[in-house]
Amino acid sequence: MSRPIRALINCAALQHNFSVIRSHVGQSRIMAVVKADAYGHGLLRTARALDAADGFAVLELEAAIQLREAGFRQPVLLLEGFFSTEEIEVIRHYGLSTVIHCHEQLSMLLAHKETEKPDIFLKINTGMNRLGFKPEEGSSALRKLRQSCPNTNITLMTHFACADDLLETSHVEQQLNGFSLLQQKQKADIPRTLANSAAILHYPGTHADWVRPGIILYGASPLPDKTGIELGLRPVMTLTSRIIAVQHLEPSDRLGYGGSFVASQPIRVGVVAAGYADGYPRHAPTGTSVLVNGQRTRLIGRVSMDMLTVDLSGIPEAAAGSPVTLWGEGLPVEEVARSAQTISYELLAALSPRVQTVSLNC
Ligand SMILES: *Cc1c(COP(=O)(O)O)cnc(C)c1O
Repeated sequence: MSRPIRALINCAALQHNFSVIRSHVGQSRIMAVVKADAYGHGLLRTARALDAADGFAVLELEAAIQLREAGFRQPVLLLEGFFSTEEIEVIRHYGLSTVIHCHEQLSMLLAHKETEKPDIFLKINTGMNRLGFKPEEGSSALRKLRQSCPNTNITLMTHFACADDLLETSHVEQQLNGFSLLQQKQKADIPRTLANSAAILHYPGTHADWVRPGIILYGASPLPDKTGIELGLRPVMTLTSRIIAVQHLEPSDRLGYGGSFVASQPIRVGVVAAGYADGYPRHAPTGTSVLVNGQRTRLIGRVSMDMLTVDLSGIPEAAAGSPVTLWGEGLPVEEVARSAQTISYELLAALSPRVQTVSLNC
């Protein structure tokens, strides 16, 4: 028997979420964002389940090559582009698409001798202020690209900073305006991509030629006040484990590192094989929801590297071997994230490679 923690990955839920996205975006093409090992869900498993996607977006060249070598023929976009001239050749060889977000990348591409260039997503910084050309620089970058590589496919791209916050509609509009101005200056109609998950749900006007969903594919919500379930999505990852020991505390007994939890009455405690080295958040406080035998109870005491402890008071039949759900089916990951003062993205993407994954319906 191995350690009982498992991440169950439900491919039917992935496909369900994809169809929900399809129903939101109509004719726009869907570029499934599978960076960070598909937000912890496994790159190739996820891509296979989402073969209906019109494209994939990743960060690392290695991940893009893995997709090609596994036989995926769709556009595969490198979200940060390339870091050296040698990489341009690899990108071309594998028929990948690349973001160009800065002058250095533009110069490398223009200096690249091959006449055949990869498809380009020219990233415009409309207010996120991480990557991209300012709208006023975007025009000249476009002009240079058009002159030097007239046959290259170019898509304009931007990324929203606040599409998940309905109080920030004016920021989204500001970003949209910067993007539209650049678009209007161009004589030809250039394909565009703007929307992440939050914009797919909230701003239909941003769907354009390609949408780039990440978190909603995995069934979690990008919005702070709603769970994926409430948005009609299904959780793809369920993190499960088992109780491996039961302790009985007497009043004033302390529990775990730091002894931060002190029993005020006799209490049964379940020790669960899951800790922060598995990706469970160390900052989840006493009170964070956990399911034992499908019943909701609470985390108590401090999360340690390999174990955490739960209150079994209301669950008399729970014993060593009882199943535990840390998040997923029956317990939204957003709820655990909120309790730990983080977001679902971080919990999913931080799933440790030491956790065995099990494919369901794949
Ligand atoms: C990660 C990422 C996305 C997906 O964001 P979600 O909020 O998960 O939908 C889209 N576009 C870019 C450029 C990204 O880096």
